[in-house]
Amino acid sequence: MRKRTKKKSGGRIAVLLVLICAVIAVVTIQEIKAGSDSAKTGQSANESPGQNENAAAGSSDSTTTGEPVQSGTDEPTKTGQEEPPADDQQPADANQTPAKPPVSDSTNDDDSIVVVAQPESVTALINKHFALPEDYEPADLVYPDVPFTFSEKIEKRKIRQVAADALVQLFAGAKEDGVPLAGVSAYRSYSRQKTLFDNYVREDGLEKARTYSAVPGTSEHQTGLAIDVTGKDGKCAASDCFAGTPEAKWLAEHADEYGFIIRYPEGKEDITGYKYEPWHIRYVGKEIAKVVASEDLTLEQYMDKYGDGAVLVTGQ
Ligand SMILES: [Zn+2]
Repeated sequence: MRKRTKKKSGGRIAVLLVLICAVIAVVTIQEIKAGSDSAKTGQSANESPGQNENAAAGSSDSTTTGEPVQSGTDEPTKTGQEEPPADDQQPADANQTPAKPPVSDSTNDDDSIVVVAQPESVTALINKHFALPEDYEPADLVYPDVPFTFSEKIEKRKIRQVAADALVQLFAGAKEDGVPLAGVSAYRSYSRQKTLFDNYVREDGLEKARTYSAVPGTSEHQTGLAIDVTGKDGKCAASDCFAGTPEAKWLAEHADEYGFIIRYPEGKEDITGYKYEPWHIRYVGKEIAKVVASEDLTLEQYMDKYGDGAVLVTGQ
């Protein structure tokens, strides 16, 4: 009798164990499934769908395609010296209406963003409201023959051919006048900007990130026509202390002679959406640069006045 009972209870225990194991297995499978689902979601949010086509589109400069996203010296963090967030990334949000409702979509402000029709135009207007297509990569990016604050041949050293030619002249002119310059950062791909922006969003949240970093597609550096410059000593690179330096003064006085404009002038924050950036110059061609400089305009104002009111068709 005793034996039988023991046997019976032993059997029950075995059944129980099997049941418990089954339950654990089911729970574990569900957990794994849920984990991989969320990982998937996270990944797709971080990927730029057009990235591959972008790379495939390539450029005449063979080193562009397949070049891995730069890391390390290439503006790794907000505090990175070479590429502080100050660089073109500080919209004048702080100066504007602080009562804006929080944004829930990373690609849209309370004002919507329109993608420009002619991204390759030398006069393409790119700002917080007009963006470049995600897969736009200029076809004529080159390494300009001018000194930079770093020696590596990396993405941010590139600029479009037409701007490179003008930049060489500009640097020569500055050197002749006793204010030798150095490049800090020129072209920046959509995917690079997206990586930076996503990192900032992870660190600070979307709302705060937007106050100092450009939404991917809205950085003028993606045009390949803009470059941040500084003095040859590399001090104050893309920083507020660049204002008032002999180099900044020289740029303000002479950039237009070479077809460049100071893209984010002082006192025009409400129009450009960016704080004063004396180091950020943008190639638009000599003719337009002269008008912009002599009439004290921003590119936005120039387009309003002379661009037939059609910023989406900004033909050269
Ligand atoms: Zn810049």
